[in-house]
Amino acid sequence: MTRPISATIDLQAIGHNLRQVRQQAGHAKVWSVVKADAYGHGLKRIWSTLAAGTDGFALLNIEDALWLRQAGWRGPILLLEGFFDADELALCHEYGLTTSVHSDWQLAMLAASQARKPVNVYLKVNSGMNRLGFRPEEVNAVWQQLQSLAQVGEITLMAHFAKADQPGGTDGAMRLIRQAAEGLNIPRSLANSAAVLWCPETHYDWVRPGIILYGASPSANSQDIAPFGLRPAMSLRSRIIGIQHLKAGDKVGYGCRYQATKTQRIGIVATGYADGYPRTAPDTTPVWVDGVLTTLTGAVSMDMLAVDLTPCPHASIGSPVELWGGNLPVDDVAQAAGTIGYELLCALAPRVPVVTV
Ligand SMILES: *Cc1c(COP(=O)(O)O)cnc(C)c1O
Repeated sequence: MTRPISATIDLQAIGHNLRQVRQQAGHAKVWSVVKADAYGHGLKRIWSTLAAGTDGFALLNIEDALWLRQAGWRGPILLLEGFFDADELALCHEYGLTTSVHSDWQLAMLAASQARKPVNVYLKVNSGMNRLGFRPEEVNAVWQQLQSLAQVGEITLMAHFAKADQPGGTDGAMRLIRQAAEGLNIPRSLANSAAVLWCPETHYDWVRPGIILYGASPSANSQDIAPFGLRPAMSLRSRIIGIQHLKAGDKVGYGCRYQATKTQRIGIVATGYADGYPRTAPDTTPVWVDGVLTTLTGAVSMDMLAVDLTPCPHASIGSPVELWGGNLPVDDVAQAAGTIGYELLCALAPRVPVVTV
C-alpha cells in the first residue's frame, strides 16, 4: 500500500477542450500553450493528444522544444520569450523554431547570426502590459530591420492581453496594437485563453490558448467557463487516513488555527503543501469527500490536511477525497486560497504519482 494520493490526467478531456477551443477560434490557427510542463500536466504525457489537433506548440524552454522535435513533432513551435542567448538562436535556426523577438538585444543577435536557414519571428509589441515588447511607435522600424535580414523568414505581429477576462478589457491594448500594425500587412497572434473565449475580434491568424486546454478558467471564476463545455484535465485525489472526534474547544493542526465549537468529527487526509496543495488555504476552502462538499479545518501541513466530516457522516477511513478536479473546480479551491487555478495546476509537486487515463 502506497500513500494514497495521486493526480489523474484525463487525456480525453484535453482533446475535447482543444476541439472546443477550435470551435471558438473559427478560422484562426491554434498554438497550444504547453509552458510550465503543460501547466503541471506533463508535456511528455499530453503532447501527442494535442498533436492530433493543434497547429503548433508554444512554450518557453528550448529544451522542451528540442524534446518535441525529438519526439517527432515537425510542425511549428513558438518560443514565447524567444531565445535567451546566441546558442539558443542557432538552435532556432537549426530546428526550425519560431522565436519571439521582444527587445533590441535580440535584434542585434539576429543581425549578427551566421545561420543560413532563416528563422520565423514573432515581433512582440508592448500593448500596455509593460513586460516585454517594443513600443507601438517602434514597431514599424523594427519590422523594417527584421525584413531586411536574410536570417529572418516570416514575421508575425504578437501581443498579449493583461485583462481579456474583463468587459472592454482589451480595448486599450487593441488601440495600441492597431497603431503598431499601421501600414504592416502581416499576420497577427494576440489572443490568450480569455480572449479566445470572450474577445472574438482579437482572434486574427493564430490564437494562443493555455489554461482552457486544461479545463480551468482564465478569469479565476469557474462559473465563467461553464457555457463552453470544458472539462478539467487534472484531478488531485487522496483518501482519509485518520479520524478525530473533537469536543468543543479542541484545536486542529499547526498554530491551533481551527477550534471546534461543538462536538465534531474531522478526517485527516494524506495531502499537504509538499504535494502542491496551497498552505494559505483558509477554513472556508472547499474539499470533496466521498460525494459531498465540505471544508478544510485548520492549517495545511506539509503532508496532511484536515476536513470537517459533519456533512459526511458516512465518511470513514479510506473514503475518497478530491482536492480539485472533475467534482470540484480547481478555480474554486484557488479562489478560496487567494490564488488562481493556474498556480495550483503548475505547482503539482513531483512527489505526487500521476495516473494518465
Ligand atoms: C502563457 C501565455 C499564453 C497562454 O495564456 P492562458 O491565459 O493560459 O491562455 C499566451 N500567450 C503568452 C505570451 C503567454 O505567455
